[in-house]
Amino acid sequence: MERSTIVRVHEGLHARPATRFVKLAKGFESDVELVKDGKAVSAKSSVKLMLLAVKENQEVTVRANGADAIEALEALIGYLENPRAGLDDEAEAQSPANDAGQEAAPAPGSVPAAPDGANRLRGVAASEGFAIGPAFAHFPPDIAGQGRVLRAEEIEGEIDRFRTAVGAVQARMDNALAQDSLSAGDRGIVAALRDIAADDSLTGEAEGLIKGGNDAVSAVITAASTIAAEFSAVDDHYLNARADDVHAVGRQICLVLLGQDDVSLENIPEGAILIADDIGAWDLARAPLKRIGGVVCGHGGATSHIAIIARSHGIPAVLGLGGQVNALRTARDVALDGNAGHVIIDPDEATRADFAGRVEAAAKERAGLTIFKTVTPKLADGRIIEVAANIGSLEEIEAAQEAGAMGIGLFRTELLFMRHMHLPSEDMQAETYAALAKAFAPYPVIVRTLDIGGDKPIAGIEFPDEENPFLGWRGIRMCLDRPDIFKRQLRALLRAAVHGNIKVMLPMVSDISEVRQTRVLIDECTVELKAEGVPHASFDLGVMIETPAAVLIAPALAKEVAFFSIGTNDLTQYIMAADRLNPTVAKLNDVTNPAVMSAIEMTAKAGVAAGIMVGMCGEAAGRPDLIATFVKMGLTELSMSPASIQRAKKAIMAMAAEG
Ligand code: PEP
Ligand code: MG
Repeated sequence: MERSTIVRVHEGLHARPATRFVKLAKGFESDVELVKDGKAVSAKSSVKLMLLAVKENQEVTVRANGADAIEALEALIGYLENPRAGLDDEAEAQSPANDAGQEAAPAPGSVPAAPDGANRLRGVAASEGFAIGPAFAHFPPDIAGQGRVLRAEEIEGEIDRFRTAVGAVQARMDNALAQDSLSAGDRGIVAALRDIAADDSLTGEAEGLIKGGNDAVSAVITAASTIAAEFSAVDDHYLNARADDVHAVGRQICLVLLGQDDVSLENIPEGAILIADDIGAWDLARAPLKRIGGVVCGHGGATSHIAIIARSHGIPAVLGLGGQVNALRTARDVALDGNAGHVIIDPDEATRADFAGRVEAAAKERAGLTIFKTVTPKLADGRIIEVAANIGSLEEIEAAQEAGAMGIGLFRTELLFMRHMHLPSEDMQAETYAALAKAFAPYPVIVRTLDIGGDKPIAGIEFPDEENPFLGWRGIRMCLDRPDIFKRQLRALLRAAVHGNIKVMLPMVSDISEVRQTRVLIDECTVELKAEGVPHASFDLGVMIETPAAVLIAPALAKEVAFFSIGTNDLTQYIMAADRLNPTVAKLNDVTNPAVMSAIEMTAKAGVAAGIMVGMCGEAAGRPDLIATFVKMGLTELSMSPASIQRAKKAIMAMAAEG
C-alpha cells in the first residue's frame, strides 16, 4: 500500500524532522519505506532517511506493508504535509558545524605562519587580547582498530559488549540533554549526536562487521567511516557536516569499548591556555569557557567557528599554526598575543612580566570602558554619532545590547542562508528581521541583502565555477539574477518593517542600474503583499560602498538612495587589488593607505553634499585611531563588532572634548 505527496515540512527531512518522522514510523508494526526518485529506504532509520536528502516541495512516496498500514500512511503523510513539522524543530536542528556560527563574513587578522625564534610561533590572530597562563594540551589520541579476528564462539559475546557500549553512550547523551544548564545551541548538537547513536544504520553496519569476525572497535571505526563517507558524498553541505557527527559518535562508542575516557576539557585549570591541533566547535562550546584564558590551535582561521566562539566570549586566540602547534605539546606555560597572532612557549621572566602587565592593562581598560555603554556620543556641535553593531545572527543581540549598541549597522544575512539545509522561507526570514527590529527599536536595524558568492556556496543556489569568485557572480549581482530568492528576502523585509526601524542595504553595488532594478522588485513585492492583505511597511534603501566603481559614481548614487555604508573590508581589497584573505599581500591590504582613505573621503563628500547619511560598517569603523578622521569627513554612523563599541564611543567623546 502506498501514497505519494509533496513534502511541505519546512526545509525538508533534515536532522530533527527526520528523527521525528522515524519515531512516528516506529510506532507502527508495518514495514514502512520512503521512496524518492525511485530510491526506497526504511522509514525507521533516521540516518538512511537523512541520506535520502528529502527537500521541501519534493515529491515522495510512503510505502507501508502490514496490519496497520492504513494508519501508518495516514499519520506519516500528515507529517510530511505539515509545514510546521520542520519549524518546531528549528532550535534543535543546528549541527555542530553550524553551531555558534556567528559571522558569515571574514574578519581581519591573518598572519603568515612563520617561526619567529625557538620559542616564538606565529599564527592567525583570531581573537584579540593578551593571555599568559599554564598550558593545557588537548590532543586526544586517535583510536586505532584492534584488527583482531574473532573466533566463531566469541562473536555473540562481542555483539553483547558492543550493544552495552552503545547503550552507555546513548544514556550519557540522554543525561546531557536532561541538564537544564545546556544552552539551546548545545542541546541541538547533543541531540543530533544522540539521534545517530540511536539509529540502527551505524549500529547495524557495525554489528554486521562483528558477525563477519571483526572486533567491535575495528567494526565501529569501519562502520563510522562508511556512513560518514556517504554523508560526505551528498551534494548538500548541511548533510556533509553530519559526517563529523558520525565520527564523533563512533569515537564515543570505541572509548566505552576500550574502557577509556575522552580527554576532557572539564578539568581545564583557571586561566589556562588551551592548546590543540583541532577542537570541535561542540567540544569548545561545552567547555568551561569562563576558565579558559586563551586558545591556540593548529587548525582554524579568523572566521572559523572556534574563532567566533572565542571572540564572542572575549577569549584571546591564535589559530592556524599548522604543525608548529606540536612544539606546544610539552609546554608548561604559554603567552599569547591575539592581536598580532604571536605565541610564546615557556616565556622568560621579562616576557612574563610584559604579558602580565598587558593582561592587567587590558582588563583595566575594559572595566574603564563600561561607563560608555549608555553614552550617546555627541560632537561639540551637538551632532550625534551613532555607534552600532555588526552581527550575523539573533544569538548576538544580547552581546550587542550589553555593549551599548545604538542599533545594528550591518546585519549579515548570509548565516541565515548558510545555516539551513535549504533556502530560508519568507516566513522564517520575516520572523528573524522582525525580532531584530523589535530588539533595537527605535534605533535602526540595517539589514544587508544576501551577499554571497561562489567562494561560500549555499544549498539551493547553483554557483558557476569561477576563476575569481571575488570578482564574480556575488552579492547584488547574483540576487538580481535570482529574483525568486531576492524577492523572498525583500518581501520578508517589507513585512518586518512593520515592527521597527528596518533599513535595507545592497552589497557589492557597482552600477546605478542595480539600485533601480532593486526598486522595481521592491515595488512588485509591495503590490503583491497589498493584494494578499499581508501587513507591510516601506523601508529606507541604501547601498554599501565597497567597490571602486561605487566610489566613482557616489554623487549619482547618492541621489537614488537614503544612505551609504562604507564597507572598508572589500573597498580596501578592491582599491588596492590585494585579496583580503591572502596573507602574502596583507601589507597592501591596508585601509590607511592614502588611496583607500581618499576613496572614503570622496564617498563621504558625495553623501554629505546630497544630504544623505554616510556610515561605515567595515572593520575600520571600530578603530579608535581612525574614528576622528572618519567623523571629520562627515560620517555620522559607525558600525562594528560589539567588542569595539565602548572604545569607539570613548574615542568620539574625546573628540568632542577637544572641540
Ligand atoms: C565590508 O566589505 O567592509 C563589509 C562590511 O562587508 P563584508 O566584510 O561582509 O564583506
Ligand atoms: Mg563586503
